[in-house]
Amino acid sequence: MTRILHRQIGGKLPIAVGGQGVEIIDQDGRRYIDACGGAAVSCLGHGHPDIIAAISSQAAKMAYAHTGFFTNEPAEELAALLVEKAPSGISHAYFVSGGSEANEAALKMARQYFVEKGEPQRSKIIARRQSYHGNTLGALAAGGNEWRRAQFAPLLVETHHIGPCYAYRYQKPGEGEEEYGLRAANELETKILELGADSVMAFLAEPVVGATAGAVPAVKGYLKRVREICDQYGVLLILDEVMCGMGRTGTLFACEEDDVAPDIVTIAKGLGGGYQPIGAALLSQKIHDAFAHGSGFFQHGHTYIGHPTACAAALAVQKVMERDNLLQNVRDMGEYLRQKLHERFGQNPVIGDIRGRGLFIGIELVSDRETKEPFAPALKLHAAVKREAMARGLMVYPGGGTIDGRRGDHILLAPPFIINREIADEIVSRLDGALSAAVSAAS
Ligand code: PLP
Repeated sequence: MTRILHRQIGGKLPIAVGGQGVEIIDQDGRRYIDACGGAAVSCLGHGHPDIIAAISSQAAKMAYAHTGFFTNEPAEELAALLVEKAPSGISHAYFVSGGSEANEAALKMARQYFVEKGEPQRSKIIARRQSYHGNTLGALAAGGNEWRRAQFAPLLVETHHIGPCYAYRYQKPGEGEEEYGLRAANELETKILELGADSVMAFLAEPVVGATAGAVPAVKGYLKRVREICDQYGVLLILDEVMCGMGRTGTLFACEEDDVAPDIVTIAKGLGGGYQPIGAALLSQKIHDAFAHGSGFFQHGHTYIGHPTACAAALAVQKVMERDNLLQNVRDMGEYLRQKLHERFGQNPVIGDIRGRGLFIGIELVSDRETKEPFAPALKLHAAVKREAMARGLMVYPGGGTIDGRRGDHILLAPPFIINREIADEIVSRLDGALSAAVSAAS
């Protein structure tokens, strides 16, 4: 009997004992193609010799050195590398152990920035419905997924939500894409004015929405308009690239494609590729300067910030990505995989939308393609597809709550950046089998 409180109580999970390239192997020797990188984490796949070597060499040098006493070499080198490649204005990195912690740190940075600047009345956070920023209380408060928030609502800090930028669902007939993007972005201005411009501290958004919507990129121009609005009202722009960042969409930072520079950008999953738990909040010079010229102290911290082994792993992951030109493979394979998905599922009556960027691909399931009507939530079709896929040796990341956090199903694909055409073809073929089985069981 298991002594772990698993999220799904009473289910039986296979025991993972190994990983090789794009596959995970269970105790019974079954192999699963990791077509979602767990949760868009495993960018280099499993068992990469360079990363294993970097981890063991660092671990052999020193277990841990508290950042209240020391800095360490891998953390310094990783910060320098990230800052060099980050959007303009980003000047420093703050390392944590995952995505939720990165967003907690970002929110506290934003708050302290305004306190240091003598604008303590700025405390309100605006985020978007259908977003996920993590499960710790601050990050959960910012997230817009009703199902995740509902029972914890009394514990959450006040956050205000606007609609997402989600063309498949909300672009009106006859409305151009850029026109829709402007309309969606202008909701931010309306909300800022409603709350009182000098009370708002930050707007937080994922450039490409992952877990709660299934790889939904903002349309062209949306983030640019958001940046303009933030500048106009003195609000900080925090981009959550925990899932979509670090190369997943084909550029190191997803916001590069939108040509927008945030004040803070959070990263995690692909940063360490799953070899170690690590995340970061990257902050701009103006925030750093406000702290440096003010209290001289960032009032936040965790025991494991800047952990040397985690930083060494992430540094090695980022170096391999660059050395092996993997961003190019993400772009090429992303295009190939999307094309194959369109060929296979383009006419499938239950596939409403195939979307995404790079190797971050969402497939939205609908019961009627014309009306975009979702399946009944009780069917939990996304979970059935995951189950059927596992039975066929394929891992895909399922999501419900695509529409306003309550209804809808999607499947997220986020395979390692090292895939080739053969693996992409195998993913499509196994997914086809899983989808057919799940849909026929549901009908
Ligand atoms: N932000 C986004 C966009 C995410 O997708 C996630 C996790 O899925 C998080 C934050 C939270 O990250 P973590 O689970 O590492 O705390």
